[in-house]
Order: sequence, then C-alpha cells, then structure tokens
Amino acid sequence: MLFHSTRGQDKDKTFEQILMQGLADDGGLFMPDYWPQVDIEYLKNLESFIDVAKYIVPLYTGSSFKKEDVIELLNNTWHNFEEQDLIKITQIKQSTSILELYHGPTAAFKDFGLQLAAAFFNKTLQTQNKTAIVFGATSGDTGSAAIDACKDFEVIKSFILIPHGNMSEIQRKQMTTVQSPNVHPIIVDGTFDDCQDIVKNGFKQRSFLKKNQYLLAVNSINWVRIIGQICYYFYSAIKINKLSKPLNFSVPTGNFGNVFACYAASKMGMPLSKIIVAVNSNDILYRFFKNNDYSKKTVSETISPSMDISVASNFERLIYDFFLNSNSELCNKLYNNFPEVSIKLEDSIWKKSSELFLSHSVDDDATIQCMKSFYEQHGFIIDPHTAVAAHAVNRLEEELMNETVILSTAHPAKFPNILRNADLKLKNIPKRLDEVKNKKEVAVNIPSSDKSIFEYIIKHN
Ligand SMILES: *Cc1c(COP(=O)(O)O)cnc(C)c1O
Repeated sequence: MLFHSTRGQDKDKTFEQILMQGLADDGGLFMPDYWPQVDIEYLKNLESFIDVAKYIVPLYTGSSFKKEDVIELLNNTWHNFEEQDLIKITQIKQSTSILELYHGPTAAFKDFGLQLAAAFFNKTLQTQNKTAIVFGATSGDTGSAAIDACKDFEVIKSFILIPHGNMSEIQRKQMTTVQSPNVHPIIVDGTFDDCQDIVKNGFKQRSFLKKNQYLLAVNSINWVRIIGQICYYFYSAIKINKLSKPLNFSVPTGNFGNVFACYAASKMGMPLSKIIVAVNSNDILYRFFKNNDYSKKTVSETISPSMDISVASNFERLIYDFFLNSNSELCNKLYNNFPEVSIKLEDSIWKKSSELFLSHSVDDDATIQCMKSFYEQHGFIIDPHTAVAAHAVNRLEEELMNETVILSTAHPAKFPNILRNADLKLKNIPKRLDEVKNKKEVAVNIPSSDKSIFEYIIKHN
C-alpha cells in the first residue's frame, strides 16, 4: 500500500515517508492508493480496542513496517487511559449511545491519533538514528495531546505555540505544567492565526534545524492520526451490533479529521448510515452541505474552542475521494485558487452529499441549553463540543433511521467556566485534570515574530 497526494503530483510514497512528511509537496493531502477491505466475519468477534487496532493499523503500514513489529508497537502505544478498554460506550436511550473518547491522559479524543503518531515517529527516528522537532500551534486540545504523547521520547523535542486566546485555563495548564526537558510551551502574544503563520514560515525556512533532524507537524492532516481514529469507529460498531447494521455517527467537527476517519471506516467496510457533521457558529462545513457554499470567513470565538476554524483542512480529502472520484486534476483546480475563490461544486456532483451527510450548525446559546437538558434527561454532564453533536442529533432526529452514536470528544472538566454558565456541577473531576490546576506553570512569553521564536528554538534545540 502506497500513498499519493490529492493534487496528483506527489505520489508512490511509503507509509514512513508520509508519516514524516505530513503535507504533500504539491500542497495536497496524502491518501492511500486504495481502500483496504476488512473481513467483517473476523473483525466482529474481536473484544478489545487494541485487538481492533492490531487488525486495522497494519493495513496501512505494510510499505514500511513488518506486521509483527507494528503489533508489538501497538502493545505499548496507548497509555495512561482511565478506562480499562480506553473507551466507554454509554447507551442513553434505545436508539442512541455516547462514545466516550476522552479517557486518555489529556482528556480529549486527540490522544488516540497523537499517541499513535508519536509511537511511529519514535520508531522511525530510532531506526534512522535521527532526531526530530515537533513544531505546532494550538487553539485547544492538539497541543496538550502532542506534548503528552511525545514527552517521554528523548529523540523528539516539542515546541508548541500557545496564543493568548480562547482556550480554557486547564487546556493551557495541561501544556505549561509538564516540566520535561524536551517540552517547550511558548506563549505568544498573538492570535491562533498569527501562531499558525509562524509555524508555516518555520516549515518553509527550517533554519533552526540541526543536521539529521526532522521537522514534524502534528496538525490533523497527518494520515497516521486518521488511522488511529478509524480504529474506534470499528470498535464502537463491533460493540454496538457486531457490524451487523449501519449506524449514524454525530461528530463535533472542526478540521474534519474525525469525520474523515468515519468516512474512511465505511470505505473499508464498516456499515454506515449517515454522518452528522455538527459544527458551532464557525459554519463553513454547514454552509457547504446546506448550500454548496464552501467559502472562508473570519473565525469567531465560541465556547467549543477546539472547533473554531475558518477552513476544515481534511475536507480536501472528502472533496477528492467522495465528490471527485479521485480526480486530482479537478481537486488541484479547486484548491489552487482557494480560499480567494470559494469552492462550489457542480450541482449534480454536490447533490451526492445527501446520500451520506447531514449537517447542523449550533450556536453557543443552543450549546448551553443542550448541556442543561442533557443533564436533566440523562443525569450526566457533557462538554460543550459533545453538546454540539448531541444538539444536532435532536434537530435532525426526523431524518435519521437506525441507531445513532454521538461522539464525546472531551471531558467536561476541561471547561469549568462553561459548566458554571450552564449551572452544572461536576461531582467527579479526573485526578489528572485536578492535579494540573495546582501545578506551577512554566512557559516563556515571546512576541509574535518569526525571528524571536526561531531564535528561541535554536537556543533550546
Ligand atoms: C479537535 C477537536 C474537535 C474537532 O475535531 P476535528 O477532527 O478537527 O474535526 C472536536 N472536539 C474536541 C474536544 C477537539 O479537541
């Protein structure tokens, strides 16, 4: 299995190459050359999440790693989860379940993708006798999951830019209280977009790298993160009905990585009814599914900060695979001029979306209302991101057949101020989040300029 770019130029790459490269050279996103098919009869009897992962992950890694080696790696990949089988599924009514993906060390679902990424980064670096810098910007949960996943690997140094902005105090403290010599949280006096621009320039210049050192991105376009997420879709479908009937999945969506993993699972053979693309008031995806209008607008800050995006980077994969039937020339045309020219598909092509997708945009008031009513009806508290997905299900209920799974992507304890606004009180705060509150923060403050940040990295590299 090799990989190629959605824009057609960068192709015939091995898993290891796309792992270490992230974005394709032509600006596109990597895709597998074909969709590997699962054996449902075998898969449906697997019990644990790790067993499912041991079946799924090697389907994508064969160009670079022996199956036995991957299986050994997977035995040690996902760690510090508070649920025995990593994930908990809670049925809230006859036709609806919650897939709790927040039992990992940073209490958001990003631990699934990033712990897998870090394990493969480390293995590759060991084999090649090289080191790496992880350089990224974060608006919420990516930074903490990346830091946590990489902190114990000596060959990886993390430099994460944290904007003064909308993330919760706990989200920030998860990054600034780690105190490991290879972790460098940097608080930047600028916005998330400023931070992303600096990271982009860093990837162009690479001036701060040593010899034999990789520069690694941890944003959600890396295919390895998608693989980690595909595993839990299969796992939940096995647990709920042994892959015997199609399910709906409601996904709180930002960069579309999580939705794309659901789509990928269905292309590999998982029975799927509908995907509900649930967004907050940053609604570019909703506008696309509703009106064929994929146009960039400025980001507004919401109470579900990990979904505050202006464009959904992984959406290019869906345009390419689902709408354009893998026509890279057309994909290139659409994306070469984006965002200056908005994306609008031919109507006959766009209409295909209703086969598989529903979408809803949920504003902050409705999110708070949903958190309250969810507690009243079901007796437990969901976080604001999960509430966006739950509210979308309520609104679209009439259009749904089959059972529905709502993805719960973060633990509510990460957002104490929002719980307060909703008059909700958590009884149990996970120990790992409670401890963070009282730890000392250590982070440098650097002005928002390429030069000062690159100098800091050189000094600490
Ligand atoms: C990152 C994140 C999302 C959005 O996921 P995408 O894959 O970017 O769509 C949703 N909820 C939480 C809690 C997140 O951290």
